[in-house]
Amino acid sequence: MVGTATFLKDAFLRVFGPTATLRVWRAPGRVNLIGEHTDYNLGFVLPMALELACYTAAAPRPDRRLRVFSENYGEAREWPVEDLSAAAPTGHWSDYPLGVARELVRAGFAVRPANLLVWSTVPPGSGLSSSAALEVSVALALLEGRPIEPLELVKLCRRAENEFVGAPCGIMDQYVAVFGRKGAAIRIDCRSLEHEAVQLPAGVAILAVNSMVKHQLGSSAYPERVAQCREAAARLGVPSLRDATLERLEQARAALPELVFRRARHVVTENARVEEFTAACAAGDLAAMGRLLAASHQSLRDDYEVSCEELDFLVETALAIPGVLGARMTGGGFGGCTVNLMEAGAEERFRSNIAEAYRRRFGREAQIYPCVPAPGAGEL
Ligand code: ADP
Ligand code: MG
Repeated sequence: MVGTATFLKDAFLRVFGPTATLRVWRAPGRVNLIGEHTDYNLGFVLPMALELACYTAAAPRPDRRLRVFSENYGEAREWPVEDLSAAAPTGHWSDYPLGVARELVRAGFAVRPANLLVWSTVPPGSGLSSSAALEVSVALALLEGRPIEPLELVKLCRRAENEFVGAPCGIMDQYVAVFGRKGAAIRIDCRSLEHEAVQLPAGVAILAVNSMVKHQLGSSAYPERVAQCREAAARLGVPSLRDATLERLEQARAALPELVFRRARHVVTENARVEEFTAACAAGDLAAMGRLLAASHQSLRDDYEVSCEELDFLVETALAIPGVLGARMTGGGFGGCTVNLMEAGAEERFRSNIAEAYRRRFGREAQIYPCVPAPGAGEL
């Protein structure tokens, strides 16, 4: 933490010059244990916030401008604060901070002239939610400590991503970036927007493995899945797939296009798996937890069709490593990370086996991140 603060202070000094009033805000990335593509169907998810996080260092400016520098990309953008409420997206990374600034102004929070330096240890586009970490840390920096209801902060950042960036994401990522808990995953009901802490049983370890690929298909497939789920709900006559049951779905099967049926079956069974996984955590049933992760991956691969060759390989390879209880893709899919549940003590062998197998098969270095539940966003 001391290392991070010093790094940010030095970077800020280099980019913007000396300031006496630097404040730093942190918002975590996350790994979703189970409940994939269920949030925008108002179902259940079980993510945990990570030590990997986005940091925004901020200080006021003497003029009327907001300037944002990404230390990761070595690039800046700036806007007059008077223009923020009417800003338009450009397809650049700066759409995220700009969208957040616009939503803050629209919600009645004046955005004051400032210099922002953003630096993230969350790998971008890898399914660990670098985007929500960026949004939430920037929002806190622009609020400068002014109070905001945590749920309002969540919704405001999601609006920035949905309406300004143009990604139809559900609420999970922003929610866990704000409400994440040290030492626990959180089970979120994406309809009521309530959550409960879920303690993982003792004696397990969780590792994320980054395939280091991101297939282009993902960007069009995500909104397509959102639309297919909406169609499925409409055909079933329910407000959202959260309200559908497997029995109802099976009864309606003949009347549904095959693709729509399979998309809906993933969502309905995945919601049930979140509930079963939560119960298995409480019971300390490690074998059941592992089975549910593997079943989630199968469903995402076969019914929802958001996996890819690299993710399938990482999951299959993981399941054959001694001590591994379960594995699945995590995040939107088409690349990014897998999440792997194993017996504590199996980590070293897992790391070397999976890295070696991936290198041999795809000629790439997989990145591996140990996942320990970290707290939600706040000032550093
Ligand atoms: P994920 O949230 O899974 O990492 P997304 O596609 O939702 O993937 O968001 C990734 C995008 O967020 C990046 O392409 C970039 O535009 C933006 N982003 C994330 N972190 C940073 C950063 N440190 N600096 C600038 N932009 C970032
Ligand atoms: Mg994202």
